[in-house]
Amino acid sequence: MIKKIAILGSTGSIGTQALDVIRAFPSHFQVSVLTASNNADQLILQALEFKPKIVVIVNESHYLYVKTSLQCLSTEVLCGREALQAAVELEEIDVVLNAVVGSAGLYPTVNAIRHGKDIALANKETLVVAGELVVDLVKKHGVKLLPVDSEHSAIFQCLTGEELNPIEKIYLTASGGPFRGRDCSFLKNVTREQALKHPNWSMGAKITIDSASLMNKGLEVIEAKWLFDLDADKIDVVVHPQSIVHSIVQFQDGSMKAQMGLPDMKLPIQYALTYPARLLNSFPRFDFMNYGSLTFEKPDLDTFRNLKMAYQALREGGNRACVLNAANEIVVDAFLNLEISFLGMSDIIEETLCQVKNNTKLHLDDYIAYDSESRIVARDLINKSKK
Ligand code: NAD
Ligand code: MG
Repeated sequence: MIKKIAILGSTGSIGTQALDVIRAFPSHFQVSVLTASNNADQLILQALEFKPKIVVIVNESHYLYVKTSLQCLSTEVLCGREALQAAVELEEIDVVLNAVVGSAGLYPTVNAIRHGKDIALANKETLVVAGELVVDLVKKHGVKLLPVDSEHSAIFQCLTGEELNPIEKIYLTASGGPFRGRDCSFLKNVTREQALKHPNWSMGAKITIDSASLMNKGLEVIEAKWLFDLDADKIDVVVHPQSIVHSIVQFQDGSMKAQMGLPDMKLPIQYALTYPARLLNSFPRFDFMNYGSLTFEKPDLDTFRNLKMAYQALREGGNRACVLNAANEIVVDAFLNLEISFLGMSDIIEETLCQVKNNTKLHLDDYIAYDSESRIVARDLINKSKK
């Protein structure tokens, strides 16, 4: 049976690679919905190729252009944030692949779950902001939550067939980013261009900066907690600069399973869409002879404070991870706009966590409110730091 897929954030790094996967398997998948924030031209080209039922351009100023350009199709063209949330309700959709960046992905994920759709989740911020709520909803509505993030896909693949066996520990691998092995005196002066040069992966700007600051690994530790129901003590991070071992599960008998492959996001995207089956593809294969050694080292939590702060947020619970994530989205934006320094990002996140009070027993609206409050606090701190 053909799976009908909604791709939220189809013009991004994950979104376009998801379309590569879908293009490779025309008899398995069909695109029902495509959405983008701003890139109208690319969205139009995608719609002309895949002929979805619904297209959403979130930025309303592009609406008329997209609508006119797609007049030749029977596609419904919508705009705005509400339309992004509503599009996932379309009856025919089997899987919603959420490849939006940032906490903007939360509402569409929640709405898709409430409408009984399986979720292929690239948008890790959904689980960082409101993991407890999302996981409860997944259970309540009996849908699948399939990880797309490569580390979490690796763990998920290692756990297949191990449903009855408790996990002793998981090891999330981290490339270490472009500044691996550097100290604070070096990091003080790094530029946006240096931070945007990831050694192994080509990704969207926000996750590339998060990888350089190790916030990405911090967000992934929190993501792993909710996906695999693990305490912080059972989630370890190991730096593996070659990005071939995508992550490792250790069981109670001391046995460890790792999932390996080339650093290519099409593989975890494909697995999330075909699970539990594996389909033959023609993507490049790993060759041991190209990699003389695979190495592992400890992350430097004193230099890369973001990872330490993420662990602390996870241990403290309540709204901490939501605040951490919102502040991070603001500082990454500010760093990309040359408003603050690389190390200034961690200072502002830390101060935002101090200024926004913790709270537990949170509903969806509370998460959204803390997300907004933290953005305002972080933005204000940035403005003050520039004076
Ligand atoms: P990207 O910036 O390349 O693309 C983001 C997509 O989301 C675009 O289509 C954009 O139009 C849309 N978008 C942006 N802001 C939006 C908003 N406010 N509302 C609605 N749509 C919006 O990002 P990416 O690198 O593809 O990452 C997407 C998600 O996947 C992130 O959560 C990221 O952490 C995660 N992820 C990415 C990779 C990767 O290799 N790129 C790997 C693992 C996880
Ligand atoms: Mg990852």
